Amino acid sequence: MTAKIINGKEIAAEIKSDIAKKIAEIKKKFHHAPGLAVILVGSDAASEVYVANKEKAAHEVGMNSVQYRLDAETSEAELIDKIQELNNDEKIHGILVQLPLPKHIDSKKVIHAIDYRKDVDGFNIINVGKLAVGDVDGDDPAIVPCTPLGCVYLIKSAAGENLTGLKALVIGSSNIVGRPLSRLLMLENCTVTVANRSTKNLKAECLQSDIIIVAAGLPNLVTADMVKKDTIIIDVGINRVNIDKKGEKSSTKLVGDVDFENVKNIAQAITPVPGGVGPMTIAYLLKNTLNCYFRLNN
Ligand code: NAD
Repeated sequence: MTAKIINGKEIAAEIKSDIAKKIAEIKKKFHHAPGLAVILVGSDAASEVYVANKEKAAHEVGMNSVQYRLDAETSEAELIDKIQELNNDEKIHGILVQLPLPKHIDSKKVIHAIDYRKDVDGFNIINVGKLAVGDVDGDDPAIVPCTPLGCVYLIKSAAGENLTGLKALVIGSSNIVGRPLSRLLMLENCTVTVANRSTKNLKAECLQSDIIIVAAGLPNLVTADMVKKDTIIIDVGINRVNIDKKGEKSSTKLVGDVDFENVKNIAQAITPVPGGVGPMTIAYLLKNTLNCYFRLNN
């Protein structure tokens, strides 16, 4: 059997189109738009690409996206001052500080300086705590990190809305992906296992799972012998690897953490890299910003 390929690019486009409609209505009624401020400190090459993609997506849906490019020598105090200015700016509804920050800046202090109601990445300790205790509905819910939200949407696109009772394995326990995703899956009544680099028998864990989400940053971590035929696989990893073609100059390509070509012949459903989780992360950044706008204007 060949797996269903979960098309994150297409699904993200639908989410963005819905956001664009809502923003058009806001503009028509109130003559303003939700505002997203993105702060980049220094000139890390990968961060430059991520920030450019986020800005492009924000403009596509009609959002006001404001970029602050601060030089690598910016002090922690200066950065926090900028955040406080944006916390008090009524035209800004979402604030994102692109990570990693230069070494002389304590990223925890910086993230916690963001007003939790504008923390569109969901990394502020108040949002982390609210998600941890399951405070995700009501008037003042957690803002949940974008990549985990995108993963759950993709899982449901393959498994249906009800994930109750499914065994989910999250490989990787970072604060950006693995941990918040495990919380979300617990809220979906899944039985959740979180693996890390010390996990003793990853293959055995994989073979017991209905859903595997891999966010480790290691190409070919999950191979065909580790997967059963009814498993749904979400590949969060982004790795640039060399490809050597005989007689040609070597070049590079992006791959995930799963041996896609072989695993797709076995699993029930799988996300490709690129075109799987990546576009969903950006779609949920826009969705989180729009939700912040509605909440701040309520
Ligand atoms: P991280 O480096 O902070 O964490 C990696 C995690 O993987 C750790 O918990 C580690 O213990 C675990 N791990 C490493 N080797 C392992 C092994 N052999 N077996 C089991 N677990 C292992 O990484 P991160 O920031 O969570 O990112 C992970 C990957 O996801 C990276 O490739 C990153 O580029 C990618 N990513 C993609 C998106 C997206 O939008 N598609 C978003 C965030 C991160």
